[in-house]
Amino acid sequence: MTLLSVQNLRAYYRTEAYGISRTVRAVDGVSFDLFPNEIYGVAGESSCGKTTLIKVISGNIKPPLKAFEGSVNYNFGDYEVDMLKISQAELRENVRWKQISYVMQGSMSVLNPVRKVIKTFQDIVDTHEPITDKNKFLEETRAHINQLGLPSDVLNAYPHQLSGGMRQRVAIALATVFKPALIIADEPTTALDVVVQRGVLQMIKDIQALSNNTVLLVTHDMAVHANVADRVMIMYAGRIVEEAPTESIFNAPLHPYTQHLTSSLAVIGEKSTRASLKGTPPNLADPPSGCRFHPRCPYVKDVCRTVVPDLITIKDRHRVACHLVEAESL
Ligand code: SF4
Repeated sequence: MTLLSVQNLRAYYRTEAYGISRTVRAVDGVSFDLFPNEIYGVAGESSCGKTTLIKVISGNIKPPLKAFEGSVNYNFGDYEVDMLKISQAELRENVRWKQISYVMQGSMSVLNPVRKVIKTFQDIVDTHEPITDKNKFLEETRAHINQLGLPSDVLNAYPHQLSGGMRQRVAIALATVFKPALIIADEPTTALDVVVQRGVLQMIKDIQALSNNTVLLVTHDMAVHANVADRVMIMYAGRIVEEAPTESIFNAPLHPYTQHLTSSLAVIGEKSTRASLKGTPPNLADPPSGCRFHPRCPYVKDVCRTVVPDLITIKDRHRVACHLVEAESL
């Protein structure tokens, strides 16, 4: 069964100022599937389209962002959702929090700074499933956070009384209170120090193992993907350039951009200098022709400058978009 099927998605920002219109092709022809019971990583540098992609698949599509083409379909078992057609009311009542929840960088934005943590839990739960028995709600909330390894007394704290790491864990507990089918975690560890990061990542892994749900983990940090993800998608300039099981991404990357990302990871005892990638990410209002990576690619060929490489399946669950790979495999 497929939990989420995204097909040929094109989502652009279209702005108009002083009579000049500008189109930023943030997500440009993206297709992928998510399956139940997996942690799927999305990687790529800033402005590659990761954030726009999660905005669209979570139904957060507001002007100037618009989905111009493609489909985003969920199958939650007994309930199916076409994310590009669903009404805001249905999204609010039946999908957000219950089927899809969102963990973002910087937990303070979901925790109300002037209310104790338990009150924030109460507000969220009551909005979606009105609380009729307060003792039962308290008991279930305590059991939920204890199951995730958090002590009960965090519920009586104000957010500012908790450390950044603890706040992020509380935010994750809040996002999973309804046991959603999909948890979208957007750079969940970026603002945390390394030791705290490890605890938060372990918590994400534990939740996934406990609930057998799906986690879409978006981060530019390849070390996080190496530790947590089952499969990884690499995005560059609004397109998927490679997607494979994590082991293949790190042990046998095929796309030159993936090779750069994985080779830049720190290795204990390795003291040689890492080559940096020349140039900067392209302007998505005027992306390069052909392969969008060609101005920075060390293996660029003539065909790369004019022809967009197809995203082809090389072997089971391993897809790559590069003329080099295509030529070698045919
Ligand atoms: Fe490099 Fe060409 Fe492959 Fe693009 S298609 S990554 S430019 S070799």
